Amino acid sequence: MDVDIVCVGFGPATAGFLTTLSKQLVNADGTPAVESATTPGMPPQVLCYERADDIGFGVSGVVTKARALRATFPDLDQAQIPMTVPVGEEKVLYLLDSIGASRRSVTLRAADAMIRTFKWALPVEHDALNLPWTPSFLHKHGGLVLSMGQFMQWVGAQVQSTGTVQIWPGTPVSQALIEQNKVVGVRLLDQGVDKKGQPADGFTPGMDIHAALTVVADGPVGPIGRQLDAHFGLPEGHHTRDWAVGMKFVVDLPEDTPLKPGTVLHTFGFPEPEIFGFFYVHPDRVASLGIFVPSWFDSPMRTAYRQLQHWMLHPYLWRYLKGGKLRSWGAKTLGESGRRGEPHLVGDGYARVGEGSGSTNVLTGSGVDEAWATGTQLAEAALELLKAKKPFTKQNLDEAYVKRRRASWVEKEAVVAEKSRDGFQKGVVRGMVGMALAGLTNGRFSLSGDPVPPWKRIPSIEEYYRGHVSPEEIAKLHEECQARNSSLHGALMEKAGWPAIPYDGRLLLSHQDALLMGGKVQAPAGYADHIVFLNPELCEKCGAKICIEACSGQAITLGNDGVPNFDREKCVHCGACLWNCAQPVPGNPDKTNIAFRAGTGGLHSAEN
Ligand SMILES: Cc1cc2nc3c(=O)[nH]c(=O)nc-3n(C[C@H](O)[C@H](O)[C@H](O)COP(=O)(O)OP(=O)(O)OC[C@H]3O[C@@H](n4cnc5c(N)ncnc54)[C@H](O)[C@@H]3O)c2cc1C
Ligand code: SF4
Ligand code: SF4
Repeated sequence: MDVDIVCVGFGPATAGFLTTLSKQLVNADGTPAVESATTPGMPPQVLCYERADDIGFGVSGVVTKARALRATFPDLDQAQIPMTVPVGEEKVLYLLDSIGASRRSVTLRAADAMIRTFKWALPVEHDALNLPWTPSFLHKHGGLVLSMGQFMQWVGAQVQSTGTVQIWPGTPVSQALIEQNKVVGVRLLDQGVDKKGQPADGFTPGMDIHAALTVVADGPVGPIGRQLDAHFGLPEGHHTRDWAVGMKFVVDLPEDTPLKPGTVLHTFGFPEPEIFGFFYVHPDRVASLGIFVPSWFDSPMRTAYRQLQHWMLHPYLWRYLKGGKLRSWGAKTLGESGRRGEPHLVGDGYARVGEGSGSTNVLTGSGVDEAWATGTQLAEAALELLKAKKPFTKQNLDEAYVKRRRASWVEKEAVVAEKSRDGFQKGVVRGMVGMALAGLTNGRFSLSGDPVPPWKRIPSIEEYYRGHVSPEEIAKLHEECQARNSSLHGALMEKAGWPAIPYDGRLLLSHQDALLMGGKVQAPAGYADHIVFLNPELCEKCGAKICIEACSGQAITLGNDGVPNFDREKCVHCGACLWNCAQPVPGNPDKTNIAFRAGTGGLHSAEN
């Protein structure tokens, strides 16, 4: 099929692109403002393919300054979008270790002791220090607390009501079509195949969609973005080695909650110092809350779900959560390389927008507004080129899109943020100081640190627990957990002093129950496995098997031969296994032993 523009993924970046574009493709009298090259006499044919089963199922994001969103919708009526409210009170909290099991550096232990000693004079309550001052770059004052899923559903309806663009959810793009270094469109995923992708009953090969412009907006771990990175390489000095897995609960707060809609809490320090948390309050006693487990967390205990439970149980947070109930649950990767993860933004026939294009601001932890802004910049550029009847060549896209982006606030702020998180590579305290330095000096100063992929820096379980749990005990627990098919990391955490989770059937649930009650994961039949273990022999020899413990959906389990099994019906497409895998492929230290391909299904919730 031939169209004018094809988009991969419907996240905030494409939403910004299509909203801006769709408004300007036809004149007020219904005639085309610009003419399609493939369907003469008609406006350009614009299609968007989204992997997730419905609009708003594949996204995340909650609190945003909403500068770009408001620029697109100056009369935005928040009442039209469920779960939306202006940002109210904002707090940054340092959570003290209320259990005594957290791995803290000597500096942090000394800080904790000092805070506890002087708590009578400090804003400390329920084992948390409310930072009396937070730098302005962290504030989201004037912004919105929203549910990205709900917002995307609203935007999707707006965009489609223009009649000028079509969005197709449940339709993953399997690859970009590249001819002589020019992207000429995309191929959709084959249907009616077995787990390995071999034709089976009802085989329908993925359709080829040819387009003059392919907009790649498939997010931080998108397979099409990574295909282009592999094909075209990254600009000199750029890399995508910094990630975090964000895991989130959407919760009904207790009826008597004192928290007001719009409340924004950010935390650090617990359950491990490296784990950042967020707690945002929507209208009607609903809250979105969760944690980020970063790639620079030097621990093999990467079971985000278990860490999230301990975080919720921190006394400062639990007093708000006790009596609450899980509504929905989700997990997604956040690309934390920022501007240094920026790929070639354009080439002949294609342009990159959103988080996969390095737009996320790693200093302010803000991705939605930036992704949206890059989408609108590309839309303006595309309209300019369409009107001038200029082809979508690298040079023209450079002039029209990249120039706009470089001149915008997205770029200016990304430059300030570029090195702000480097300090975390050498420790949390150094990381926090580096962030503050970069933020307060507009990026002129920061603390250094070389980003290292997780497989290089995560110690073995035996090393990590040296002095706490003996190798013999670890081996015994390993056997017991294998026999019970339960989490080794959970068992080890308990051995190392973390209490068992007191399940309450409402909010404190086993991982499996959370998947059933809050995950609502589905996967249609007839598609290939999208997680593939590239070199089974590497898995056989891999002692760490971090992919299993890091899997957000319990979709990866131990196979009989040492090669993990993958259950497509449980996968939430978070991408954590891809970058947490403990082994690089031979000859490529930036590529792990997992292939994360385009796939169907995943979470069925538009609240995340
Ligand atoms: C837990 C969490 C909390 C966050 N909180 C905030 C916050 O409070 N504020 C903020 O500003 N930012 C936040 N972010 C970051 C924000 O969500 C991202 O920066 C933003 O969503 C990026 O938008 P995007 O359009 O570039 O990509 P995405 O939102 O990732 O969208 C990409 C889309 O492409 C689809 N896709 C992927 N592969 C394919 C394929 N092969 N074919 C078709 N479609 C495909 C995906 O399903 C998805 O819908 C958070 C991120 C996480 C993980
Ligand atoms: S996928 Fe990676 S982490 Fe998992 S067993 Fe194989 S090599 Fe180890
Ligand atoms: S298998 Fe799926 S759910 Fe598990 S870590 Fe990988 S992408 Fe996430």
